[in-house]
Amino acid sequence: MPLDILKIRKDFPILSQQVYGKPLVYFDNAATTQKPLKVIDTISEAYKMYNSNIHRGVHHLSEKSSEAYENARAVVQKFINAKFSYEIIFTRGTTESINLVAFSFGERYIREGDEIILSTMEHHSNLVPWQMLCERKKAKLKVIPMNANGELILDEMDKLFTPKTKIVAVTHISNSLGTINPIKEIIKKAHDRKVPVLIDAAQSVQHTKIDVQDLDCDFFAFSGHKLYGPTGIGVLYGKEEYLNEIPPYQGGGDMIHHVTFEKTVYNKLPFKFEAGTANYIDAIGLAVAIDYLTTLGIYEIAMYEHELLQYAASKLQTIEDLIVYGNAKYKSSVFSFLLKGIHHYDTGMILDKLGIAVRTGSHCTQPVMDFLKIPGTVRASFAFYNTKEEIDVLYEGLLKVKQMMS
Ligand code: PLP
Repeated sequence: MPLDILKIRKDFPILSQQVYGKPLVYFDNAATTQKPLKVIDTISEAYKMYNSNIHRGVHHLSEKSSEAYENARAVVQKFINAKFSYEIIFTRGTTESINLVAFSFGERYIREGDEIILSTMEHHSNLVPWQMLCERKKAKLKVIPMNANGELILDEMDKLFTPKTKIVAVTHISNSLGTINPIKEIIKKAHDRKVPVLIDAAQSVQHTKIDVQDLDCDFFAFSGHKLYGPTGIGVLYGKEEYLNEIPPYQGGGDMIHHVTFEKTVYNKLPFKFEAGTANYIDAIGLAVAIDYLTTLGIYEIAMYEHELLQYAASKLQTIEDLIVYGNAKYKSSVFSFLLKGIHHYDTGMILDKLGIAVRTGSHCTQPVMDFLKIPGTVRASFAFYNTKEEIDVLYEGLLKVKQMMS
């Protein structure tokens, strides 16, 4: 069934406000998404009614919050079809999930001279942690190149593998270009050479149906706040065999089974990777966001967002001197562009005064901007609560930018 967008918009109180006297047009969804009332109410209710630290108390409130937290884990497990709930580790977000793997996998498996394969279009979160690991271990990064459309050149990837390749870490969807990468093919290429793969799914779980068992990825990272859930909560999925092999990332409460001054025996999965008080309230909120999305239907969301992207592409590209960056065959709802001769920052500032929120800059993908030889882009990223009328507002806004800057 097609989505009832006007009804859906009522679930997001933030969308009905005015900015500088103009109705807000929120096109910064790749940076963070807005939260449905259900999520906001769940968090408020948890603090009002049953807040209590998890896993440690025998009392009623602690049992209730522990149960809700573990239920959230089960919701995430089902959402991405992980085999076991203990393969779901709650983290602060994609960045922390990737840092965890770069550290713990690195400690266990990376030695001097080893190689790690990334792609040109990685977000800094899936680049800098690996670079830090390479510095620590004297290992080396290798980069899958991309073509002018912003698509990875997979034939070139084949040439990067050597017996020293220890892991491949790639993004599923590029946050600055919108490219949807053929991750199943990438995973297969790596597995054929017995190399594990981490998928940065920060931009994909909210737009596409995910089945980690079908993908056969070894690690999979995403953030709650880009999935219509709270900030400060994210997920790392890892295959049991790897999570059992690699050491903990942080030490502290909850991640231990037994402690003496001589030695600590670590807790079982997933607690081994969840040191200290977990962000249980936001995990509970995340589960509600996932329920909300799955009730709408991920396929329905994907179809509608694709329609928005196509509408934006056909309408905005009629503007003279508008250059689109990211012309991959398979794209998610990210529209990156520049108006010739106008700095992205000026475009963003003028649009802001018209109530339109877009992101400008390098979008934490400086190597992509270096490749394109531009300082940054203007990025409009659409969610299922956006409308074609809002894209019309952006179109008018861009004509105004051109007029003001000419
Ligand atoms: N990876 C990609 C592709 C992203 O788009 C982002 C955020 O924009 C991240 C990683 C980092 O996510 P977070 O800041 O939520 O940890």
